[in-house]
Amino acid sequence: MRLANLRGRAHLVVDDGAVDIADLTDGRIGPDMTSAIAHIDALAGLDLGGADRVAINQDELGPVSDEPRQIIAIGINYHDHAAEMGLDLAKVPATFVKFRSALTGPHPVVVLPNEHCDYETEMVVVIKEHAQHLTADTAWDVVAGLTLGQDLSDRYTQMEAGRQFSLGKSHRGFAPVGPIMVTPDEFRDRNDIRLQCSINGELRQDATTAQMIYSVADILVALTGIIDLYPGDLIYTGCPKGAGQSFDPPRFLAPGDELECSMESVGDITIRFVGAN
Ligand code: ZN
Repeated sequence: MRLANLRGRAHLVVDDGAVDIADLTDGRIGPDMTSAIAHIDALAGLDLGGADRVAINQDELGPVSDEPRQIIAIGINYHDHAAEMGLDLAKVPATFVKFRSALTGPHPVVVLPNEHCDYETEMVVVIKEHAQHLTADTAWDVVAGLTLGQDLSDRYTQMEAGRQFSLGKSHRGFAPVGPIMVTPDEFRDRNDIRLQCSINGELRQDATTAQMIYSVADILVALTGIIDLYPGDLIYTGCPKGAGQSFDPPRFLAPGDELECSMESVGDITIRFVGAN
C-alpha cells in the first residue's frame, strides 16, 4: 500500500491517481495522516473499485506523517559515513531529535541560515502503533511504512556547542519527508533499499540500506528499550557517505542549489535552497 498527504488529507495512492481515505471510509479513518497510519491494516482490505480518483499534483503533497509526536534520528549508521566524519562506532545508536517545526513536505524551498548547511539522504521509518520493549522478532510489526527524508544539517550550530545535534538539524524546513509512504511488503527487500542524492545534477550519495550498521529492527529495539513510540512517529535512520562535509574543502549548500534525492519504490524529494536575505 502507498499513502500520500494530498492537500492535507490522507490518500491511498493507486495506479490511476489517489483515493481520499476519509471519503472512502465514510469518515471512519482520516482525514489526517496520523489516523490513516494508525489504521493502515484496516485500509488493506477496502474495496477501491468505485472510489473517485484524483490526480496527484506533486506541489500539493505534505509530509507523510502530519502530526508526529516525535521525530527521532539516528546518526553515524553507515560504516563509510562514520569513516568520512572521522567518528568511531558506538555500541549504542547515536540518537537525536529533529524538532517538529522543521517538518515539511517533499518539495520545499528551504532558507539556508548560514554557509555551513549540509544534506543527508535517509530512509525514514513511520511508526504504526504505541510501542515499548520491542524485540528483533516484533520490531517490524510496528512499522506502518517507509519513506524518504532529508536530514538537513547546519554543521555550525550542530558542532559549536559540543555536538548540539538536535538544534542544528531543526531549522525551519530542515525535515522534509515523502513524497509518499510505502508499506514494507511493497519493497523488493525491506532491508536493502537504494538511496541516491544529487546536487545540481551531480551524484553525491548512492547506497543501499543494507549497508546500515544498525538495521531498522536494531534501531527499534534500542529505542523502545528506553522510550515509547507512538502512531505517526518518524525515525530517520542515518545517511551514507557523500555528505558535503566529507569533501576537503567541504561542499556545503549554497543559495540557488537544487537537491534531488530518491528512494527505490518511494520516489523523489526535491529542494531548492535560497539565502536568508
Ligand atoms: Zn542524519
